[in-house]
Amino acid sequence: MFSTKTLSINNLILARVSAHVRNVSSARMFSDNTHKEHKGKYDVIIAGGGMVGCTLACAMGKNSLLSNLKVLLLEGSADKKFVLTQEYSNRVVALSQNTKSLMSSLDVWQNVENMRQQPVRYMQVWDACSEAFISFSSSDIMDDDVAYIVENDVLMEAINTELKSSTVRNVDIVYGAKIEGYELSKAGANIEKKRNLVKMENGDSYICDLLIGADGANSKVREAMGVQYISWNYDQMGIVATLHLAEESENTTAWQRFLPTGPVALLPLDSKRSSLVWSMTKAQSKELLSLPEESFVDALNDALWKEYPRSSAVDACVSWVGSVLKQVGLPDGAQRQLPPSVRAIAPGSRAAFPLGFGHSTKYVAPGVALIGDAAHRVHPLAGQGVNLGFGDIKDLTQFLSDALYTGLDLTHSSSLEKYESSRQRHNVPTQLAVDALYRLYGQELPPFVLARSVGLQITNALHPIKRLLMSHATT
Ligand SMILES: Cc1cc2nc3c(=O)[nH]c(=O)nc-3n(C[C@H](O)[C@H](O)[C@H](O)COP(=O)(O)OP(=O)(O)OC[C@H]3O[C@@H](n4cnc5c(N)ncnc54)[C@H](O)[C@@H]3O)c2cc1C
Repeated sequence: MFSTKTLSINNLILARVSAHVRNVSSARMFSDNTHKEHKGKYDVIIAGGGMVGCTLACAMGKNSLLSNLKVLLLEGSADKKFVLTQEYSNRVVALSQNTKSLMSSLDVWQNVENMRQQPVRYMQVWDACSEAFISFSSSDIMDDDVAYIVENDVLMEAINTELKSSTVRNVDIVYGAKIEGYELSKAGANIEKKRNLVKMENGDSYICDLLIGADGANSKVREAMGVQYISWNYDQMGIVATLHLAEESENTTAWQRFLPTGPVALLPLDSKRSSLVWSMTKAQSKELLSLPEESFVDALNDALWKEYPRSSAVDACVSWVGSVLKQVGLPDGAQRQLPPSVRAIAPGSRAAFPLGFGHSTKYVAPGVALIGDAAHRVHPLAGQGVNLGFGDIKDLTQFLSDALYTGLDLTHSSSLEKYESSRQRHNVPTQLAVDALYRLYGQELPPFVLARSVGLQITNALHPIKRLLMSHATT
């Protein structure tokens, strides 16, 4: 039953949205006369249909206010036909609870579950240079799963199934659409100059009011905005592979060991398989990729199990801190668990990806916004990259629909600026924390090992801090 109040609010919203749509269509008629060469005019163009761009398109189709906008998604690669096989893909992502909520709200999560995902119920991170470790379990996250491991291809298929379903009616998609460049709108310009021009490699062009750059770390949208981009390469590669474990188990634990050369992580896929993300220098990755598969497995088991040289002074301090924590009633959590051994890798599943850091100092410009890796890039050691991108979508769609609801223009600077400040407040500290962890764990000198080991022990013992960390990582 709807109350009169609800009905009148709904009428108000409808009136505002139709006013906006009327503005949009009169603008279209105007530009029809002046831009005959354009292939299409859209309210929103999303440049880049990776995991983040496709999810934004889906969210714009399912939001009651934004679904009145005409949206175009341009993706440079071809539309791939996905077939779920017994083999797992070597590219996976660890998705947070917040990402799961977003995907559930878009009906995407049920598609993921209809294919496959593996919950992570326990996570252990430990240091190869000391006894220190930290663990996270469901109890640290309101009795829910710590994360979910999903293949990139499965997630893309789940998103695309919704995007192409009859529930999304306002999104046009062009695959194989390579964007050559942009002419961006100018603040305070007349209505025509307020539009963004998107120029395609094949000579086509499109115009739009709002351009969203979801075109990844080498974003051309960001380049066209002319904003400062702070970036560096870690001179590291992340080797990925699908692993067959020596023993079958429930396998809901994610393992990460910090080696002086970089972290090695095993993410669970099913009872006998896990996915590998192993960071190391470019030279080491070249050598490991050239090894026969059996020797690679030996090297990996070494990385998980080998005893590294230790400082006896650090060991003594770590053990003293452990006993002090016990005495004050803060035992440092559960016992350290032993990781699984790897039996084999799925043939041909090894691959390596360059790792880097990137921060765009501005996420927005007049009529333009960046999301996902186009705005920020992080080392995968904390499994945050795409989760930050999905957080961008949640906030951007919220601020855009708030703007329409209050009768503002879609590209009104106040909503774009709100988006930028809300996301930078979350993303920048996360990126800096991940970078600091990477640097701290790259050190073998005893004072650094001691500092990080004691830090890890205390964090592990203090549940409120652990919860705080988890809640930041999942929002
Ligand atoms: C080894 C590794 C492990 C990772 N693990 C995790 C993890 O566990 N959890 C996590 O959250 N993140 C993880 N990440 C990070 C995650 O993969 C990225 O954050 C994510 O892929 C970014 O998605 P995106 O859609 O923003 O960008 P992209 O995936 O780069 O997509 C950009 C899209 O834009 C298109 N495009 C680009 N330029 C053009 C153009 N000119 N014209 C047309 N189209 C264009 C591209 O074809 C592409 O489809 C990992 C990364 C690596 C390397």
